[in-house]
Amino acid sequence: DQLSNQIAAGEVIERPASVAKELVENSIDAGAKRIEIHFEGGGRRLLRVADDGEGMARDDAILAFERHATSKISRLEDLFEIRTLGFRGEALASIAAVSRVELVTKCDDEPHGTRVRIEGGKLRDVEPAAHPRGTTITMRDLFFNVPARRKFLRSEATESFHLTNLITHYALAHPEIEFTLINNGRETLRAAPALDLRERAYQIFGADFIENLLLVEGGERGSAFVRGFVSAPRERRTSRDAQYLFVNGRFVRDKLIARALSEAYRSILPHGTYPAALLFLDVPFDEVDVNVHPAKIEVRFRRPELVAETIREAVRAALHGAGY
Ligand code: ADP
Ligand code: MG
Repeated sequence: DQLSNQIAAGEVIERPASVAKELVENSIDAGAKRIEIHFEGGGRRLLRVADDGEGMARDDAILAFERHATSKISRLEDLFEIRTLGFRGEALASIAAVSRVELVTKCDDEPHGTRVRIEGGKLRDVEPAAHPRGTTITMRDLFFNVPARRKFLRSEATESFHLTNLITHYALAHPEIEFTLINNGRETLRAAPALDLRERAYQIFGADFIENLLLVEGGERGSAFVRGFVSAPRERRTSRDAQYLFVNGRFVRDKLIARALSEAYRSILPHGTYPAALLFLDVPFDEVDVNVHPAKIEVRFRRPELVAETIREAVRAALHGAGY
């Protein structure tokens, strides 16, 4: 029912950036090579994600908005071996429960595309529509029907900042995908398909930033492997805000990794200061449990010590290599 949908939505959807996260992850899961994100009013008024992924057939497009509709778990064992970013089938239902959503999609199996409109969880209409292979989802008026939550949305500038930050993370996590970000009609980020993380970081941050970063790479592929960048110790921050951590391509906030990172800098950075970092950790899928929080931002490792050790060693090696 609608109320329980709205309540469940609150766990997943907090602000425009959380909507963007779910939509972009779906585009990545759909095999998109190109993702374009467009927003207005900090994403509160409008947020559109367009991809050239595999798209959906008409029936799947309608089903996609049902809670627990996911095409990503076909066997029970899949629950324990999650390869795609999404797996709960809650995101679209949650977004549609608290906004006005229009989905236009087309897959190779059908001669024409489909448009589905949903408002506050109510299906408004389904009709044929023209669209190239892929999916465009437009979300309007976030929390239009939940004033209590709308109140907690921050200023346009703050929400725009969170959105931009989030898209930057995904652009870094997926150098092979072309990302375009358009804020109020102005293109603020465009990253053509890149060969690797370094090239992508260069596209996004420019040469100066890259020069001040130390390349991190270490661990063992097939057990725990980390790559990315950390900042040279002359760059110090008073918070962990500039630490971006990904586990198996998924953006996470993780205390274990953050702590291991700090340990690597112990006696190099003054107490209470933190490095900037962009770290991608890969572990076998059965070594990590991502099913701990509806927003899927926290993870639990089967062998936390191995993970901590891998991060510490790789970062120390990077610092050492640069003479620290
Ligand atoms: P989940 O990603 O956890 O499966 P979602 O609610 O995010 O759940 O999406 C529901 C389903 O809708 C997905 O499993 C997928 O089949 C379909 N879907 C959503 N977005 C897209 C997209 N951009 N391209 C193709 N299919 C999509
Ligand atoms: Mg999803």
